[in-house]
Amino acid sequence: PERRFGGSPGDAAHHAAGALDPAKIRTRFPPEPNGYLHIGHAKSICLNFGLARDYGGAAHLRFDDTNPEKEEQEYVDAIKEMVAWLGWSWEHAGHTHLYQASDYFGFMYRAAEALIEAGLAYVDEQSPEDMRKNRGDFTTPGVNSPWRERSPADNLARFREMRDGKHPDGAMVLRAKIDMASPNINLRDPALYRIKHAEHHATGNTWCIYPMYTFAHPIEDALERITHSICTLEFEDQRPFYDWLLEHLAQLGLLARPLPHQYEFGRLNLSYVVTSKRKLKQLVDEQHVWGWDEPRMPTLVGMRRRGYTPESIRAMVEGSGTTKTNSWLDYSVLEGCLRSDLEGRAPRAMAVLEPLKLELVNYAEVFGSTDFRDPCSAPAHPHQPELGERQFSFGPALWIEREDFAEVPPKGYHRLFPGNKVRLKAGHVVECVGCTKNEAGEVVAVQAKVVPDTKSGTPGADAIKVKGVITWVAAHEAVPAEIRLFDRLFKDPQPDAGGKDFLEALNPESLRVVQGFVEPSLAQAAAASHWQFERHGYFVADRKDHAPGKAVFNRTATLKDSWGK
Ligand code: ATP
Ligand code: MG
Ligand code: MG
Repeated sequence: PERRFGGSPGDAAHHAAGALDPAKIRTRFPPEPNGYLHIGHAKSICLNFGLARDYGGAAHLRFDDTNPEKEEQEYVDAIKEMVAWLGWSWEHAGHTHLYQASDYFGFMYRAAEALIEAGLAYVDEQSPEDMRKNRGDFTTPGVNSPWRERSPADNLARFREMRDGKHPDGAMVLRAKIDMASPNINLRDPALYRIKHAEHHATGNTWCIYPMYTFAHPIEDALERITHSICTLEFEDQRPFYDWLLEHLAQLGLLARPLPHQYEFGRLNLSYVVTSKRKLKQLVDEQHVWGWDEPRMPTLVGMRRRGYTPESIRAMVEGSGTTKTNSWLDYSVLEGCLRSDLEGRAPRAMAVLEPLKLELVNYAEVFGSTDFRDPCSAPAHPHQPELGERQFSFGPALWIEREDFAEVPPKGYHRLFPGNKVRLKAGHVVECVGCTKNEAGEVVAVQAKVVPDTKSGTPGADAIKVKGVITWVAAHEAVPAEIRLFDRLFKDPQPDAGGKDFLEALNPESLRVVQGFVEPSLAQAAAASHWQFERHGYFVADRKDHAPGKAVFNRTATLKDSWGK
């Protein structure tokens, strides 16, 4: 089958010819295309691409597609999109460093044959159970396989039968011949190739044997001339095999020196979510969420849809440091990074999430007619005058937040209650005179009087001192909006720690959808645009569901300071 990407050095000849561009260091991000990227991957991406940027190097994006069954083109496309969205490029010095491990299957096969010929690998026909049993454990050395001393010629013949489809899945594997008594279990003759009669998303039915990750990965790194092969801590015990394999292949003349080196760092975990692709897939497949890109998901597509910016994710990941221990970060840290990013640039707007009608009983007296609309304006951003002014207007009926009225005010409450005056932000001062209730006794409307000559920004507007300022949207021009408010997806900070059933920790109240109103300037909001709704937090127009005539906003994060009483 054809190679999908150009310029792959998937061949020793290509490799030796030095077709790669000069780079001081070379790193790679090697996702398996079996799911969508999550926040933990962002850590690895920023580390690898960031090191290349900082040290005059190149970073490769490589699809580690050695496992035929779980991989799909959909994931390949989504991974490319999100690495680019985070702000990184796999272009360097005119070269496109986009690779896939399956391009190297031919080379890997030849490397396996070379190891067999050198007496460094053998075909083992033990049953999988015996193989597991004979591997031993931390306290017991392993037991040699009865097939271990077979001649290279016999092993080669057997291996070719495997390749030619003469044996069923699981009948035998190719193993490295190292040391069954090694204290490092990874050196007890690790498997290199297994039989898998499965179609591969890139190579189709060309192969029915596939290299194991531990065999494939070092070879991929070496062929691409990676200098720093950076991986997570759980691979530390694999490093001796990584070095064993590359050293032997170099001695056999198959790989050029200098050889790559593996370095490990701690995983990044986020509290109140899971970041295993398998578990995220389960959430999607079992419809606990709408999809991979649902805003409560810790996937990068989900976080983007939630309103996280690439800048905020990069700042979070960079601030988390790179250490030799796994770290747990709280969502609040991520929210802090988002606020720092958007505080200075997100335009402001007013929105009412839980609307209650406010009727201005003396409107016609003050303005001459209930048909009069009093124009109001406010800066789009308090510190960015170049963003201009938002225009809206005042009328006889307004929407306010339900929580901004109390028939009997709690202690210290400065908002609307009968007899109290508040300022309607960027509008007038009003004095509450009463409320209307339905048969069930619920407040359905509040009445107030406009206090004349108190319009914000006019001379003498501040003559009357009030303690409360509330947000509002005029009923005659309010834009109805679906507003989605999110909470943590899980109730447990570490939902899958210690083998717990993570589904039991799902938070049934993690999504609340309200029908609210937003100010008229938002009728034209572009999908995926970021806003700060005053007092309610940062919101994004949903990239899929928001459209002209159908406003849909997701809350990304609340504001840090809770709104005053
Ligand atoms: P998962 O366990 O979620 O399936 P993975 O490690 O199997 O993740 P890969 O596609 O193999 O997924 O990951 C690509 C790269 O991202 C690897 O180098 C891996 O070490 C790194 N990575 C994955 N998860 C994290 C994490 N939580 N923190 C840091 N790096 C990570
Ligand atoms: Mg993996
Ligand atoms: Mg995994």
